[in-house]
Amino acid sequence: MESGFLDSVTGNPYFSAGFGLIGVGAGLAVLRQGMQRGFDLARRNLLVTLEIPSRDKSYPWFLNWISHANVTRRNSQQLAVETSFRQHTNGSITSTFNLVPGPGKHYFKFKGVWLQVERQRDGRLMDLSTGNPFETVTLTTLSRDRSIFQTLLKDAREAALAKETGKTVMYTSWGSEWRPFGLPRKRRLLESVILDRGIAESIMQDVEDFISNEAWYNKRGIPYRRGYLLYGPPGSGKTSFIQALAGHLQYNICILNLSERGLTDDRLNHLLSVAPERSLMLLEDVDAAFAKRKQSDQEGFQSMVTFSGLLNALDGVASSEERIILMTTNHIELLDQALIRPGRVDMKVYLGDATPHQIRRMFLRFYEGKTDLADDFVAALEGKPPVSTAQLQGHFVTYKADPWAAVKCVSQLFHNSLGS
Ligand code: ADP
Repeated sequence: MESGFLDSVTGNPYFSAGFGLIGVGAGLAVLRQGMQRGFDLARRNLLVTLEIPSRDKSYPWFLNWISHANVTRRNSQQLAVETSFRQHTNGSITSTFNLVPGPGKHYFKFKGVWLQVERQRDGRLMDLSTGNPFETVTLTTLSRDRSIFQTLLKDAREAALAKETGKTVMYTSWGSEWRPFGLPRKRRLLESVILDRGIAESIMQDVEDFISNEAWYNKRGIPYRRGYLLYGPPGSGKTSFIQALAGHLQYNICILNLSERGLTDDRLNHLLSVAPERSLMLLEDVDAAFAKRKQSDQEGFQSMVTFSGLLNALDGVASSEERIILMTTNHIELLDQALIRPGRVDMKVYLGDATPHQIRRMFLRFYEGKTDLADDFVAALEGKPPVSTAQLQGHFVTYKADPWAAVKCVSQLFHNSLGS
């Protein structure tokens, strides 16, 4: 009875075809699995990957490198834009764009080796400080070429650093972190900013003295910070001097705009404590931040930094990290005494309208060796209303090839308003 059943099953052409199909299916599944395993094995053995998470320092270096590097790229129709953006205190905006590979896979050839770049966004995880999603860039290449990663990262780092040597990097705040703004600028020479006798030297000496005395501060438990206030009329060289100072010290500059919308006390505190090493913290037009605040209070939008928040942030820089804070203002009389008391501002320096000494030196900087004319020019300005160094610069630029005309047309200085 049983054998009869088997016979009838195996003898039945439909059943045997069914078994056959099952067999083929199972065979294919095994084969597919085998291939997958083989593929994985091959991938493990033949390919090597490198992950660069967005929190790593080399991440911006790499993105920047790939946007400029002279590499053969394929498949890079998907580009993304990285924009650096800065709103100045006067409201104007400057921005720069960098085209980088967008999310997805891209292929490129570097030193004869093909590499795959995959840029992945983690949709769920956000960097809370910046509001940006976390990202990872994964580079893949053949195992035998693994040394290319080192070369590539070194190239990227060198390209980033080369851009900075001899230059001043300007950082602006981005959420609660600092990001370089635009391309690093050529250092401004200290000699190119002409202040009245002895002023530049006394600031320089104070800063250098501070920088070389870290141990002294640490030993006494004093916060290792120093504040400077440069005040005076517009166009007297406050900002230019700070740039030159940074250039001379080989420091970078972090520009903190207190009127920036969305800046809160907490964020300000955080920003001050996470500033990049070897940088000067610049707070431009400190008076404007709070004057504007009152005004815009009624308009319903405002910077959310409170005055006491600023004081706390300045005092709170209690870490042993070195912090040099420079503030500028055109109106020292508008500043609250609490802001400029010693400990917050340790040195106040007045940069005023051009003095005869500055006028002469500026003249000679533009017209080398023309000492007699320089004296004539100074004499021509005697008893006239004050002029700013920025106005003088404008005048000399107008007559750049003709020092005689610069002297003859001195009255032009009072007709055009060339101040900053
Ligand atoms: P402030 O910050 O005092 O308003 P800036 O530093 O922005 O002035 O100066 C505006 C322009 O005038 C710049 O182009 C700068 O080169 C020039 N300038 C102003 N003061 C001086 C100075 N003392 N020496 C050389 N250039 C100056």
